Amino acid sequence: MQIVIIGSGVAGVSFAEKYRELSADDDEITLVTREHDGYYSRPLLSRGFSKADIELSIILKPFDRLRENNINVLCGVEVTAINRVDKSIDINGACQEKALQYDKLVLAQGSSAFIPPPFRPYESLFFCLNSLVDLKALRKFRRELLNQNQQPNWAIIGGGLIGCEVASDLATAGDNVTLFHAMDRLMERQLAAEDSALLLKVLQGSGIKVLLNQAVKEFIKEEDKICVRTEVTDEFDGLIVACGFKPRTELAELAGLETGRGIKVNPYLQTSDESIYALGDVAELPNGKLYAFILPIRNQALWLAEFLAGQKQESIGSISEGWTPPVFTTKAKVHGFEAAHPYNV
Ligand SMILES: Cc1cc2nc3c(=O)[nH]c(=O)nc-3n(C[C@H](O)[C@H](O)[C@H](O)COP(=O)(O)OP(=O)(O)OC[C@H]3O[C@@H](n4cnc5c(N)ncnc54)[C@H](O)[C@@H]3O)c2cc1C
Repeated sequence: MQIVIIGSGVAGVSFAEKYRELSADDDEITLVTREHDGYYSRPLLSRGFSKADIELSIILKPFDRLRENNINVLCGVEVTAINRVDKSIDINGACQEKALQYDKLVLAQGSSAFIPPPFRPYESLFFCLNSLVDLKALRKFRRELLNQNQQPNWAIIGGGLIGCEVASDLATAGDNVTLFHAMDRLMERQLAAEDSALLLKVLQGSGIKVLLNQAVKEFIKEEDKICVRTEVTDEFDGLIVACGFKPRTELAELAGLETGRGIKVNPYLQTSDESIYALGDVAELPNGKLYAFILPIRNQALWLAEFLAGQKQESIGSISEGWTPPVFTTKAKVHGFEAAHPYNV
């Protein structure tokens, strides 16, 4: 059997390792990814400025460790199409192959940063923090300013989970930060009002200027500065847009799979094509939810590996009821902040 996985995040790697452990030796497992640096911790991206050795310490596993475990990894490779009729994917990269056949395909492509439509014309003017490539670009930009004895002055657009974490980490690293948020309180989708108020105090206490109820109208480049226009116009050295995430559904859509916010799956994490499964940030469960956090994603990956390896068949022959989300909580990695109430995830 040929199992092909797209994506080397927690979903793809956890699935590949567990399936390798459970499956027959002659099952071929191939993991295809555009990444070069290995399997890394995405949550640690938001500690990317206060931790000096982050570019190394963020790597959880080099790809060679997976290869030693009999998982074929094609890295630096872009999957450009899914061909459902002949069960293959088209790939583009520094490897010999141009297409790969599969018996079962697992889509674990994760999510990209969501860019609100009004900001899209300005993409060359701002950074996002969604991948290790993004973090390296941000760190290089910051290093160049520091080398000129300039402490960077940042604008961050978005006071959700990632915007608050990044603001906090940049401030901890000594930079000047202004955080623009469209709503009247921070992390309003996750936190109780009382915790939003506490978070505001913590961020302000670390020197961050927090501007609520801000309708950002446009960005303007002026020499080596970027201006953010709201009711007033402020200028900054660097700009980070942190307005949420968007599941990477494009390949699935082109292949005619059912999609909504994510790629729609049934309780067995199976898409509208019975040979194709989806999990992680990219998967939308029958209840309409995306489980875009490490703990439930790892749980999905282990469940799917067991399911495909035949371990969810019960002794009387009936199969399990499908994946059910584990109970879990999460927390914002904002320096010095601890919410009093559990998060709404
Ligand atoms: C800054 C930040 C902080 C976070 N903090 C937390 C936290 O504290 N706690 C928590 O639980 N969650 C956190 N999250 C969310 C968590 O990291 C994600 O839910 C999780 O990493 C998603 O894993 P995934 O494997 O589904 O996708 P990803 O990690 O996005 O992996 C998908 C992979 O697929 C590859 N890929 C996609 N398309 C293609 C293609 N066409 N060809 C080849 N390769 C492709 C991508 O390059 C990527 O490597 C955070 C996320 C971010 C961005």
